[in-house]
Amino acid sequence: MGRLQGRKEREPFVLEHASIASGDGIGTIEDDMSILVSADGRIEQVCPTRLAFVPSGYHHIDATGKVVAPGLINAHVHLFADGKPLSGGGDISPRVVDAAMKVMHGPAGRVLMDVRIKSNVSALLNSGVTTIRTLGDVGYESVRLRDRIDADELMGPRILAAGPLLAIPGGHGDPFIALSSSSPEEARHNTRINLDHGVNAIKVAATGGVTDATKVGEAGTPQMTLEEMTAVCDEAHEFGVLVAAHAQSPEGVKAALKAGVDTIEHGSALDDEMIGLFLDNPRSLRGFSGLDPTLCAGLPLVKLGQEELGVTDIVRSNSELVVDGMIKGARQAHENGISVGVGTDTGMTFVPQYGTWREMDYMVRYAGFTPAQAFHAGTQVNAKNLGFDDVTGSVAVGKDADLIVLDKDPAKDLRTLANPRLVIVRGRPLWHPEVRHFDDIDRLLDTF
Ligand SMILES: [Zn+2]
Repeated sequence: MGRLQGRKEREPFVLEHASIASGDGIGTIEDDMSILVSADGRIEQVCPTRLAFVPSGYHHIDATGKVVAPGLINAHVHLFADGKPLSGGGDISPRVVDAAMKVMHGPAGRVLMDVRIKSNVSALLNSGVTTIRTLGDVGYESVRLRDRIDADELMGPRILAAGPLLAIPGGHGDPFIALSSSSPEEARHNTRINLDHGVNAIKVAATGGVTDATKVGEAGTPQMTLEEMTAVCDEAHEFGVLVAAHAQSPEGVKAALKAGVDTIEHGSALDDEMIGLFLDNPRSLRGFSGLDPTLCAGLPLVKLGQEELGVTDIVRSNSELVVDGMIKGARQAHENGISVGVGTDTGMTFVPQYGTWREMDYMVRYAGFTPAQAFHAGTQVNAKNLGFDDVTGSVAVGKDADLIVLDKDPAKDLRTLANPRLVIVRGRPLWHPEVRHFDDIDRLLDTF
């Protein structure tokens, strides 16, 4: 696997004779193009190769027969696990929880987590993902890694790091990956704790979840109140930070939208009021809210046999309660012009870090997108939803050189995204990207 190595100096280069797939949603492709990348990692020229002016000192990379596309963006990742089945849920005794908490949040846990997330981030980058948003960390390990990458100590994707999510006591994510609160004041205080630790994303749990549910019916049950989520949004927005909400039922989605969250994670079937709020949300930071359906996290849990999945009855039953709504909501959102992004919920059961392309594939097969529209969602739409469209998400002069070199046009064949030949992140090439696959998991995911 291409490793995350630091490298101080960068050198300018030109990709020549490339076909550019811009990710515009229609599937436009321009042939025989050159892309010049400056020493500071920006795209400085995009034009037909015969017209390109290449200063001396630039490396020439011949991209004949290859397609160059924007690097992928994954709006919903967890870095603490690799995507093999999680054994959460069920009745765990408080003593076991306590002991596990002490280890995870102690010095040894911190070292372990730093190593593990580095390897998971490497898998994301090697699979063509140049920007990620973590939505639920054990502590502030993603903040630390982000800072090392930004300081050029390591090569890696641009990271929006949420730290622990914000939840009610015993709610989704609590206690392992959440700070809990019981009032709007406490929720605001916890938001402030995360902001003080340097997070650049915030996540709330509007409803219960699937993976850590302790009883049937917990997924989708409203948890944080409208007032609590409003307090979180107000505080985060004051610092220009976007808020994501885990929400898996109509009640939860509606309350989160009313509170002003900027993206809904997972989602549910939508009514007219919710659709209206997605499109025009006065309490959100930028006037609209996006949706990340995370079909990758839901579909395997209902499509595969329980034995193959290795999950409990509770997880299975909760999945059956919410996944149909997630799929329906994704389709409705697409039909109504809502800004639908790509987030896979990596780290969850059967969601490996390297499978971002699958979400786009599911959007085509389950939610009515064309491949070009799905690729658009994973690049330009995601950049907009995450507030990064001025720096990444397309192949345009002035943006960071976040690029992937592919065998085929992703707008025609999304699977080509599974094997990028070259990944460039902020102008740094990662030669020979390679991912260690879980063949048994991939084989099962390929069956539906
Ligand atoms: Zn998640």
